[in-house]
Amino acid sequence: MSAKRKICIAVGILMLLTAALYLVLLMPQTAKDEQERLQQPLETAVEETAEVEVSDRQIKETDLPDIDINSWEYVLVNADHSIGEYAPELGEIEGQKLDQRILEPMQKFVGDARAEGLSVFLSSGYRGYEEQQYLFNRKVEQYGEEQAATIVSRPGTSEHQTGLACDITDEYYELKNESLENTALYQWMSRHCQEYGFIVRYPKDKEEITGIIYEPWHFRYVGVEAATYMVEHNLCLEEFVALYQ
Ligand SMILES: [Zn+2]
Repeated sequence: MSAKRKICIAVGILMLLTAALYLVLLMPQTAKDEQERLQQPLETAVEETAEVEVSDRQIKETDLPDIDINSWEYVLVNADHSIGEYAPELGEIEGQKLDQRILEPMQKFVGDARAEGLSVFLSSGYRGYEEQQYLFNRKVEQYGEEQAATIVSRPGTSEHQTGLACDITDEYYELKNESLENTALYQWMSRHCQEYGFIVRYPKDKEEITGIIYEPWHFRYVGVEAATYMVEHNLCLEEFVALYQ
C-alpha cells in the first residue's frame, strides 16, 4: 500500500470518527432544545399566574367573569362567614342530599367519571345545622370548645350546610386523607371538575386562606364560569369572592 493511500484511509477514518462524535455530542443537545421548547408554554403560564397574584386590579380590568357575586352559587362559608340556620331546598342523589339545583351537574360529573372506568362514591353531601351542632358538641365534650373548633366546623360555618358541597371518594378507597390525591379518581376529578362547575374547595397551597387542611375529596359547586376562572388563575373561593369587593 502506498503512503498516499494510507493517508487517505487515515483521513477517511478520522472523518468518520468526527461524524460519530458529532452525533453523540450534539443530538442529545438538540433533543434537549426540543424538550425546552415543549416546556416553554408551561413556564409562560406560571409567569402569568404570578402576575395575577401581584395585582388583583389587573384581573378586574381584564377577564373577571361578569356575574352577580351575591347569587347562590358563590355563597362563602367559613369560620368567619356563618350562614346561620340556612337550609337549601334539597334533592337526593345516590343516598346523599344536595341542593336540588346542583343535582344535574353532579350527576354528569359522576357519570362521566364512571364512563372513564372510575369507581365513584358520594360519601357525604348536605349536613344540616342541627347535625353539625351535634357533631360539634360531641367534640366539645371530648376536647373542649377551642380545640373542638379546629376539628369540626361550628354549626352555621360548615360548607356542607349549603348543600353545594360533596365529599367524593373512590368506592374502594374510602380513607379521607391527603393520600387520596394519588388515586386515579382524584387525578381525573381534580383535572375535570371545573368543566362541570365544581372546584377542589380546600387546595393544598391555600390552607392559610381557607383555614381548612387540604381536602382532595371535598368538591364544591360554583358554576362553570367561576370554576374555570378560579382554576385558570389558581384562586380559592375566598380569593375569588374578594375580587368583587
Ligand atoms: Zn367535606
